[in-house]
Amino acid sequence: MTKRVLMTGGAGFLGSHLCDRLIAAGHEVVCLDNYFTGSKRNVEHLLDHRRFELIRHDVTQPILLEVDWIFNLACPASPVHYQFNPIKTVKTSVLGTLNMLGLAKRVKARILQASTSEVYGDPEVHPQPESYWGKVNPIGLRSCYDEGKRIAETLCMDYNRANGVDTRIVRIFNTYGPRMALRDGRVVSNFVVQALTGQPLTVYGDGAQTRSFCYCDDLVDGILRLMVYEGPERHEPHNIGNPGEFTMAELADVVRELIDRDLPVRHEPLPSDDPRQRRPDIERATRNLGWTPSIPLREGLAKTIEDFRRRIEAGEGR
Ligand code: NAD
Ligand code: UDP
Ligand code: UDP
Repeated sequence: MTKRVLMTGGAGFLGSHLCDRLIAAGHEVVCLDNYFTGSKRNVEHLLDHRRFELIRHDVTQPILLEVDWIFNLACPASPVHYQFNPIKTVKTSVLGTLNMLGLAKRVKARILQASTSEVYGDPEVHPQPESYWGKVNPIGLRSCYDEGKRIAETLCMDYNRANGVDTRIVRIFNTYGPRMALRDGRVVSNFVVQALTGQPLTVYGDGAQTRSFCYCDDLVDGILRLMVYEGPERHEPHNIGNPGEFTMAELADVVRELIDRDLPVRHEPLPSDDPRQRRPDIERATRNLGWTPSIPLREGLAKTIEDFRRRIEAGEGR
């Protein structure tokens, strides 16, 4: 059945991939973005499509639309960008999610909230299952994002319990791939841009901290499965991420191996509250959604490098 879909943050990295998949599946997509970290370029190829519409709007402001499904992705995701204006980041997660839940309530739409592994903070349980409540600093530099996303989850659960809104919550672990902004500031895009332009790779701290990297196509597949999942745990958070865990030093080595083995590494200070380890327990997603990631890091990185190389050669970012 064709759905009318609202994609907030749809001109961003993950939102634009979701728009592509939904258009290909025959749905109508209204893409909403304020272009803070996203770009029209990411959805340019969809602009002439009769089932696609693009609106410049900020989710912190109310909006009236008639839709069946809402994917609420609007929020800067890179520490560099979410710390640029931390109060705005809090408003985006809190007021933005409130507005989308109010909209969902009014039109009886199903809504999926893009949450994050950051709700686990600097975790003492490893890997992280959804039942773990996390160890989050409420007053640090990352709090605007971490706590904003935690309250967004609270809002979803309360709109579900109090108003019967049909909510879904996905806890996304570090995801990378084509269309990440060249100046995004997250580790994969930094390393790939640095390696392609012959600069040293900037490893923060000693590089022993770990992350688990999921390729965007796997992530999008998991999110779409969660949106149509009707089982008893449908309103509970679901981790979606790739359990393959790497230190940042290992990631730098893989990028050098794929682009230029001779590139040096430059160590820079570790940002405050940088989580030491991160790996999803995906048992719930596997059991409920039949989902497991299929694209290993080297394969996903090769696709990402190809896309970044093409964009850099075309002059993007100059
Ligand atoms: P992104 O920065 O590419 O996309 C975010 C989009 O939201 C951008 O297009 C931006 O312009 C838009 N936006 C920001 N504030 C807005 C506002 N107030 N109103 C309207 N639009 C606004 O990042 P992404 O990686 O595509 O992340 C998408 C979502 O997934 C975010 O909610 C992020 O928190 C979540 N997430 C991503 C990852 C990841 O590793 N990529 C991990 C965890 C969670
Ligand atoms: N909202 C919106 N679009 C709608 C319905 C609601 O943007 O179609 C906003 C509304 O402006 C409010 C928020 O969503 O700020 C929460 O709405 P709700 O009806 O739950 O709460 P109330 O308006 O009663 O505070
Ligand atoms: N990082 C790094 N070099 C960079 C950017 C990030 O070593 O150029 C590290 C960062 O300190 C963190 C990890 O890579 O330990 C992942 O950082 P990112 O900003 O990508 O995501 P997050 O910390 O939000 O998971």
